[in-house]
Amino acid sequence: MAIDQKTPTDVHPIDFEEDVVQRRPITTQTGMGGHEPRMIAGVTASDDNIVFTTVNMLVNWARSRSPWPLGYGLACCAIEMMATAASHHDLARFGAEVFRSSPRQADVMIVAGTVTHKMAPRLRRLYEQMPEPKWVIAMGNCASSGGEFWDSYATLQGVDTVVPVDVYVPGCPPRPEALTEGVLRLREKIFKGG
Ligand code: SF4
Repeated sequence: MAIDQKTPTDVHPIDFEEDVVQRRPITTQTGMGGHEPRMIAGVTASDDNIVFTTVNMLVNWARSRSPWPLGYGLACCAIEMMATAASHHDLARFGAEVFRSSPRQADVMIVAGTVTHKMAPRLRRLYEQMPEPKWVIAMGNCASSGGEFWDSYATLQGVDTVVPVDVYVPGCPPRPEALTEGVLRLREKIFKGG
């Protein structure tokens, strides 16, 4: 029936609750909307886009989105680390492209390369000069376990003998995708308060 053919009895005023509220689509503006409030990693989202969380969770979230690495490399793995930050792989997508020249401005030490016994005390000193909280990524087989210099008289058999390591990235050398994956794993750990 066309609208102009409707009789007055067919026409009824809009019921706000039934015609507007109940027909409202589930919001996707924040990706957290829905009819039932639910928990997402410590965050409660309501149907009205009001988010409840804790200051601790908020701080961890902010930290996890901006892990600034210390800008230095020890051997061939450092070339892959540079490639990770360059335009093709673009580590900036994950907030970790701000390589700092001073350990006092860095959050993450990426140990990219072979650590010799001679270098180990310097590496430890750089780690101690970084402010808390701080994290370490062992990039490549050499940094993780000595790699191809296993049982060498000159090479440290894993950087975790001098600094605590949070994420190990295997490979010789690891490709930029692997280091990016390591940064993402570290972001997860930081977000969870690790
Ligand atoms: S893991 Fe391989 S690429 Fe990386 S520093 Fe050692 S030898 Fe070089």
